[in-house]
Amino acid sequence: MIEPYLEKHGKAALLFSGGIDSLALLEHTKDFHDKIIALYCDTGAAFPHVRQFVVDTLERYGIEYYIVKSDVMRFQADNGIPADIVPISYTKVISEAKREEPSVKVVQWTACCMNCLWLPMIRFVKDLGLSLVLRGHKKADELNGVDSGTIEDGITVINPLDDWSDKDVEEFLESRGIGVPRQYGEMKDSLDCYCCTAPLFGGLNKARKRLLFMKRYYPLQYETLVKHLDDVYGAALVEINNLGILLEEVG
Ligand code: SF4
Repeated sequence: MIEPYLEKHGKAALLFSGGIDSLALLEHTKDFHDKIIALYCDTGAAFPHVRQFVVDTLERYGIEYYIVKSDVMRFQADNGIPADIVPISYTKVISEAKREEPSVKVVQWTACCMNCLWLPMIRFVKDLGLSLVLRGHKKADELNGVDSGTIEDGITVINPLDDWSDKDVEEFLESRGIGVPRQYGEMKDSLDCYCCTAPLFGGLNKARKRLLFMKRYYPLQYETLVKHLDDVYGAALVEINNLGILLEEVG
């Protein structure tokens, strides 16, 4: 599937997160690694074991790779911490309009991911002069993101594993004897940032496993995270309660 694209574009960037889908993609494309550059985005809050896994894996494959840096802490200081529930009075735009500094500033997590993961990668792809991006995304995944074949701003994005299932990925990696990061023993999560205060988009069960994993292996980061989650919860409650009071009062 990727040969015609490589012929047309010459080289491709493979977005590698250290998660099992992009790991399967790395293995799946290994006959073409001389035409592929792997990119990993370190937001400054990467889980140390994931970052190490990424480096070890890319070194083992001998593929050309770069670690793209972004600064998620800086983004959050400027814009707010990412949240699954966004109480509007606590966002940057409304707090600035009201000239009030909220007790906690929040931002929708999609904006955080866009600015700290996706855009830095795409900028890097352009700086390398590349016009083709390979992702490990599958149609079966929870969130769609960018459809395979999308061309935007001169960059073509393709998802070679589009028709694979989660089981296909697991069986493929197992059949090739490829190890996965240790969190996969407990959950299917690439664990992008330890400071992520938006754990719910994959569902409550996944979020619970993620937090329990952090509590066990990253207690310091866990402690800070829970404090911030508590802040988001408190802010959301204020607005939910106000809405409840209003509805009750007007009957
Ligand atoms: S995973 Fe969370 S903290 Fe990291 S970039 Fe995305 S929203 Fe922000």
